[in-house]
Amino acid sequence: MIDTHAHLYDDIFTSDIESNINQLLEAGIQEVWLPNCDIETLDSLLKLSTSYPDLCKPMIGLHPTFVKNNYKEQLKLLKTFLSQRKFLAIGEIGLDYYWDISYKNEQILAFKTQCQWALEENTWVDIHCRKAYADLIAILSMKEFNELKGIIHCFSGDASEATRLTNLGYSLGIGGVITYKNTNLFDSIKHIDLSYIVLETDSPYLTPVPFRGKPNHPQYLKLVAQKLADLYEMQVDEIISITTKNALKFKAFSNFQ
Ligand SMILES: [Zn+2]
Repeated sequence: MIDTHAHLYDDIFTSDIESNINQLLEAGIQEVWLPNCDIETLDSLLKLSTSYPDLCKPMIGLHPTFVKNNYKEQLKLLKTFLSQRKFLAIGEIGLDYYWDISYKNEQILAFKTQCQWALEENTWVDIHCRKAYADLIAILSMKEFNELKGIIHCFSGDASEATRLTNLGYSLGIGGVITYKNTNLFDSIKHIDLSYIVLETDSPYLTPVPFRGKPNHPQYLKLVAQKLADLYEMQVDEIISITTKNALKFKAFSNFQ
């Protein structure tokens, strides 16, 4: 299994990284893809991916909730790193109108700039979107982003948004939320072809049932796969094999080892 989105460089994991890594390897995780937040998180992210290059694959980007007055400066610094080494993808980037809309325009500008980076680098984008699906779809539908590819991490839109995004060629990242009692996530994605679905945990957030309330960990990824298997009425191994294949296509696209 590939955990396509986990903040494994968070202090909560790096304080005892060896045992955390042993646990996730034992749980059948072959790769963990690391989404960046801002220039402050990049150091521990790169440290982890350098120490465990086969397991941990680095992304680079400015997360929308980290877009503030100084976003241009942040982007400039991040771009320097991008020009120095190869990354799996640009992420996590996007729009978040849930927490704060005071930097809405800056979020849009930062997102478009980073989508452009992905095109220039022949790579893809890992997108964070909360309460901003209309704007997200409008941007991704622009002619200049015709060739852009990516994953909508922790997809939380409705059925028509799922259709529109997959029609644009984007895949949907599904994590712990699918295991929650009050979610209607499956209603939003059940008509979507499984070739557009990838698995993620978003560790340490969004812990699946029955561990909800505790920090999330990539080792819980199989609970997500199992829930999808129950909902689609398929074997869990089949879900794992399809979603892993889907994820590997992104890795091949950015030509990341
Ligand atoms: Zn994240």
